[in-house]
Amino acid sequence: MTGGARDRVRTDGVTLERVSEHAWWAECAGYQTTVVVSGTTALLLDPLSGGRGPRIRDAVRSVLGADVTAIAYSHAHRDHAGDAAELVGAARGEVAVLATRDCAARLPRLRGTVTPSRVLDDGAVVDFHGVAVEACVVGGHTVDSTWFRLPEEGVLQLIDLVHPGQAEFDGFGMASDVGDYRAALRRALEVDWQVLTAGHGLPGTRADVTRVLDYLADLEAAVAAVLEARSPRQFTDAASHNYGRINARLAAVQQDVVAALTPRWGALPGFGDAAPSHVKRMFAHLVWFG
Ligand SMILES: [Zn+2]
Repeated sequence: MTGGARDRVRTDGVTLERVSEHAWWAECAGYQTTVVVSGTTALLLDPLSGGRGPRIRDAVRSVLGADVTAIAYSHAHRDHAGDAAELVGAARGEVAVLATRDCAARLPRLRGTVTPSRVLDDGAVVDFHGVAVEACVVGGHTVDSTWFRLPEEGVLQLIDLVHPGQAEFDGFGMASDVGDYRAALRRALEVDWQVLTAGHGLPGTRADVTRVLDYLADLEAAVAAVLEARSPRQFTDAASHNYGRINARLAAVQQDVVAALTPRWGALPGFGDAAPSHVKRMFAHLVWFG
């Protein structure tokens, strides 16, 4: 499908929105994933958890007339993966399970996951009944974070790095390294796609990725400037313990940086709640890598 109104269906707590010829963006209880539909078969790109995966499977069957015959893991976090066993068990072993090597190595620690039946090399392209699906380990959220891209459909599934329509999650979603996080976002803009499934928030666009990079640039500049003005010497009497002195300095830096960012970013939903955690992450990043 190119251009025009998107098909959008809401049934039993699941929203399905068609974003390309074969791809549907699927939402259930605050989580999103992508369903690749080819004829009467479907690939669910994240099993999700808390019953969301089976609910999306049932909606795909009732609305689109397709059975989920394959699932794939975007990264080894249980909230995006923990319904895998239920999805596979219900189909009596007829569901293929895909993961990159990096992700597969970390799955056994997660409740509700099942061992992949097919382990993908980084950069592998899977042919799902005529639809090409590229798996690429990009990191940035977890070390095994994998994007799934449908190069012929213009769809990218990149989970937990971008939150379209709202501020980024607390502490950038525990991204292990702000530098790796930024590198993953830049890498996403180096390849072709138009529609983003991000895991949370609305269906995204390339502008949403650019927005996060702009925010990171503003945040880094503001934190660097405030750290200059708020030297550690100002806080030597703040507490008897070193951690207390660090926390006193951090609180002052958070206050100053949030004030500096508010004119441009203050209207972004969630900014007031999340921005102090972003400052803390960038503070640590500049101490370690700046
Ligand atoms: Zn995650």
